[in-house]
Amino acid sequence: MNRLTEHLIIISFDCLSALDFPILQDLPHFQNILSQGALVKNVETIYPSVTYPCHATIVTGNYPIRHGVVNNTLLQPGRKSPDWHWFRDSIRGTTLYDEVKKAGMTTAALLWPITGKANIDYNMPEIFANRPWQNQIFVSLRSGTPRFQWKLHKRFGHMRNGLSQPELDHFALEAAVDTILSKKPNLLMVHFTDLDSQRHYHGFGSDEAIAAIHRHDIRLGRIIHALKDTGIYENSTIVVLGDHSALDENKAIQLNYLFHKQNLFTVNTKGKIVSWKAYCHSCDGSAYIYLKNPDDTATYKTIKNLLFSLLENTDSGIEQVLTGDQAAKKGADGTCAFMVEAKRGYYFSEDFQKAFIKTVTAEEAILNKKYTLATHGYSPKKENYGTIFMAAGKGIKPGTLPSIRLTDEGPTFARLLGVSLGDTDGTVINELLDLSSYSLEEII
Ligand SMILES: [Zn+2]
Repeated sequence: MNRLTEHLIIISFDCLSALDFPILQDLPHFQNILSQGALVKNVETIYPSVTYPCHATIVTGNYPIRHGVVNNTLLQPGRKSPDWHWFRDSIRGTTLYDEVKKAGMTTAALLWPITGKANIDYNMPEIFANRPWQNQIFVSLRSGTPRFQWKLHKRFGHMRNGLSQPELDHFALEAAVDTILSKKPNLLMVHFTDLDSQRHYHGFGSDEAIAAIHRHDIRLGRIIHALKDTGIYENSTIVVLGDHSALDENKAIQLNYLFHKQNLFTVNTKGKIVSWKAYCHSCDGSAYIYLKNPDDTATYKTIKNLLFSLLENTDSGIEQVLTGDQAAKKGADGTCAFMVEAKRGYYFSEDFQKAFIKTVTAEEAILNKKYTLATHGYSPKKENYGTIFMAAGKGIKPGTLPSIRLTDEGPTFARLLGVSLGDTDGTVINELLDLSSYSLEEII
């Protein structure tokens, strides 16, 4: 298969929404992409629509049930800060970066989720030190490309302030520009989370979120400049995408509070869960209910009765209850006993203290960051909840499409670089591609 471009630069602006389009079209660098490239006004995300499952979908073309990353975090009841799906081995099957590297091209990934210990030439994975004895630099170096990351850390590390935004994205941008200039990779994937963070702590349409979109425009401009400076711009394709949108909320549904009351888990004197029969594993806008023993029919019945009685109660915040089989049909984890969807204005917390419904104040969201004011994870069928996609440059046919699915992005990226992800849930969107560089033999 011929490739349609030499360099594919994929920029993930976490939580960029279809609703952001009116702002984007007035910003100079987004406008630059839009004026010469392709736009998909609405991209249907996946279920549960949280960052890690979404990013695994983008690089595999598959729904979570197939690629295996069914939530951001691992199921670890009792851990104060659960581990995330940081490592490549959480993903089943092949990925865009694996296929691109196999074809002899150079790959780079910067703070892209689930790339820990992946076979990527220049890799700075998204991972954080999650144990008191761990050091952030050491954890990052060990999970990615050590020399490459050490150089970035020495040059730009002073810009970081732990995981806080916008500093982390300032650092990610310098890393992206430096990687383009010094490595000229065939595939570069970079993940920015400034907008997602601002939306979580200040609200979907807050001034802080709008300011983050403006910062993203400047970041996009710097990346375009770097491609021009290094002389590869004419042979490059720039993709700008979001993974999901977000919805405002101010009520946290704490199902584990009810499970605790019904003795479905045991807590020690320090308040730590030490054994459990059932647990609500939050995906924010939705949640999985897992049974420790899937054959425990008594617990299953207890949970089922509880969930369906909550569904009847309009103040419970629960919009829908799915069985494991029904969750699987939507592409989510079919090994759960149930999956629940929150109404607008609500989301799920794993907390089990104080109350079933916890009302979140702005102070709590901003100061202690334990609760949020807008979040993701909801069903992709929720109204006005799509994300957006735009691309420009080599191999892209200018125009506007009304919609695609998140699963279609990976196969389309693979086609641009002349590789294939095999049989996937998504398909190549040929309407986005300029296939005029096809050789005659391929057409025949
Ligand atoms: Zn995200």
